[in-house]
Amino acid sequence: MLSPQQIKEIRNDFPILKTKIYGKPFVYLDNAATTQKPKCVIDEVSNFYANYNSNIHRGVHFLSQRATAKYEEARGIVQKFINAKSFEEVIFTRGATESINLIAATFGDMRVKEGDEVLISHLEHHANIVPWQILCSRKKAKLVVVPIDNNGDVKLEELVKLISDRTKIVSITHISNSLGTINPIKQIIDIVHKHNIPIIIDAAQSVQHLKIDVQELDCDFLVASGHKLYAPTGIGFMYAKKSLLDSMPPYQTGGDMILSVAFTKTIFNDLPYKFEAGTPDIAGAIGIGKAINYIQDIGLDEIYEYEKHLLEYATESLKKIKQLKIVGTAKEKASVISFILNSIHPHDIGTMLDMEGVAVRTGHHCSEPIMRRFSIDATTRASFAFYNTEEEIDVLNKALYKVLKLFA
Ligand code: PLP
Repeated sequence: MLSPQQIKEIRNDFPILKTKIYGKPFVYLDNAATTQKPKCVIDEVSNFYANYNSNIHRGVHFLSQRATAKYEEARGIVQKFINAKSFEEVIFTRGATESINLIAATFGDMRVKEGDEVLISHLEHHANIVPWQILCSRKKAKLVVVPIDNNGDVKLEELVKLISDRTKIVSITHISNSLGTINPIKQIIDIVHKHNIPIIIDAAQSVQHLKIDVQELDCDFLVASGHKLYAPTGIGFMYAKKSLLDSMPPYQTGGDMILSVAFTKTIFNDLPYKFEAGTPDIAGAIGIGKAINYIQDIGLDEIYEYEKHLLEYATESLKKIKQLKIVGTAKEKASVISFILNSIHPHDIGTMLDMEGVAVRTGHHCSEPIMRRFSIDATTRASFAFYNTEEEIDVLNKALYKVLKLFA
């Protein structure tokens, strides 16, 4: 596991962690919303704009070729990171949201007909609900939801029961952003594949915590966001099996996704460019490559072990507050703790924690159906990254006692 000395060195890589909030040390526990960026990523992005800013592909001049090479190098880094078979299977997008919209609008449109069903779980982020809802409404198909139990675990026996001849697509999260549940994703993929149904994995909350191997998982699609992976905002990626990408129409159209255009006919570009219309976020892609290199240098196994330890420490620490109730107690959890504290509104808790320098998220966390499932409107969510420390969790604990005292 990462030692305190290693964590100290890691913290030095993140300039923002030295910030003071109202004169107090900044305790950033909102990592499920977005992660902070190491200096090497900030420098890499800035280096692009300072030294070789240029549009990619088709440029014959030196800087354009350099930018193209770095952009494609980043694709290769993502490919290796998730162990995709070929670079053609990695499409840069704006993030998990755009990736799911892409899949629903192209693959979903091809596959789902009137009377068909799309299966999701009760654990989904809105990004993995609304695109399917819109597709189903357009196609007169049905969105079917696999329920969860009181701990926040997906009921696998219900998943098995709900799959039928009408099921055309299953789309499910790997890790819940609001409860932290880690779904047994390989088991779910195997269940779904027994019925020859394609499955999409929303890995927005997992690629930063767990090693992902898309070939071993055998998922059909996998989506993720750069900004939750220590990379810039506005960049992410979609993985899909090549055979599926070959069969899908393009999502957006225009420049870069074509081989040739005439007024009578357009020939689309090869993979992966067929799905990358227009000028992409070049600096963002280069940033994601750097961020992946950075976390791989630390080691994903080490990160997982340390974050697991932090989650256990935080769970024990928060359990000591008898007025606090943790929402989401799944068997396997990632670095997220959602909780309610007496009947104090989470926004009040968040505001008071902020005064103590502690940043958490409050609200429905873009998963309103989960809140309804637990008959609440909102929770306070503390979410951890490998640069967080036990001391920071102690600060949170102490600040929560202050909140209780004020609202007593
Ligand atoms: N899916 C999950 C599980 C998420 O947690 C998020 C963001 O919080 C998303 C999808 C959407 O990600 P983005 O807004 O980066 O596209």
